Amino acid sequence: LIADGTLVLDTDWRITWHNSAAVRLLGLAGNRDLGQPVTSLLRAPAFEQYMREGDFTRAVEVASPIRLGHLLAVRVVPYGRGQYLLLVRDITRMQRLQNMRRDFVANASHELRSPLTVLGGYLENLADDDSIPEVWAKPLAEMQAQCGRMTSLVNDLLELSRLETDAPGEPDEQPVPVPQMVRRIVGEAEAQSDGTRTIDVEIDENLGLAGIESELYSAFSNLVFNAVGYTESGGRIQVNWYRDADGAARFRVTDDGIGIEARHLPFVTQRFYRVDPSRSRSHGGTGLGLAIVKHVLQRHDGRLTVRSEPGEGSEFCCEFPGQRVRSLRAESARA
Ligand code: ADP
Repeated sequence: LIADGTLVLDTDWRITWHNSAAVRLLGLAGNRDLGQPVTSLLRAPAFEQYMREGDFTRAVEVASPIRLGHLLAVRVVPYGRGQYLLLVRDITRMQRLQNMRRDFVANASHELRSPLTVLGGYLENLADDDSIPEVWAKPLAEMQAQCGRMTSLVNDLLELSRLETDAPGEPDEQPVPVPQMVRRIVGEAEAQSDGTRTIDVEIDENLGLAGIESELYSAFSNLVFNAVGYTESGGRIQVNWYRDADGAARFRVTDDGIGIEARHLPFVTQRFYRVDPSRSRSHGGTGLGLAIVKHVLQRHDGRLTVRSEPGEGSEFCCEFPGQRVRSLRAESARA
């Protein structure tokens, strides 16, 4: 028994064959629906758009036409000459499990926050207390550092689950002043690295972006702080914010640091994926930074490209389509 609904379509999307699972999932009227275009039986805007656009490398999710609250994944597979296979699967359960996982992580992180604040507070008092014997100085400092790490982890987890759950916010009417933001990030990175890394900055002062400032801030700062963290002392970092001839806006961070081996590259945006966990920890990494970057970019119609050579350095580039670009000149003229 095939649980997936399977239909054979001709070039006009008319059904020439289907199995019984297709009847059950789509509420077909059995053989009477043979010869009908599938787009007139499954009437969902997302599905119609999917068929119109014809990019069948992915599946499309549509609400079940017969069972309220059920979700279907529908996918077209071209085969043979002028024939298409349409596969339909009920993904309601999978979707629920995913939501449960997401909510659980969000709730657990949220619950961990207040105990951590209490612990951190007491540890700070103890570290400042002169009556504590000297032998405790080191353990206390270590406890404080670990408490700080846990706090960063919890904060990153919360941010990630917010990015996953919230609908992508409406871009504010005011464009995000990216040049100012980038300078602030670079300033913080320089302060943190105590001048042991050189950061060169090149910014198109006129280039703004329609989007959410706090999210862009977190994405861009993750990239700059990674460049600092994965570069040796004396390293050089280049930060660029510019518009290309193709109209796209690009935020690019280049470093001459340790680099990443090609086999790791496909995975670095996965949560908790680290090439070298102890190196990541030593720069205060949580393993979630690039996952956050990827989500933020998705929510801004952008994409991330990474190029890297072990021992030579890395280049992380965020690309935003021309429709997101806003000119800041009018703003500064008014100010
Ligand atoms: P982390 O908190 O560990 O830095 P990220 O999600 O930001 O986590 O990055 C994932 C992994 O990708 C890092 O652990 C590191 O191995 C690698 N990485 C990220 N940025 C760089 C970089 N600029 N140079 C070399 N490796 C990097």
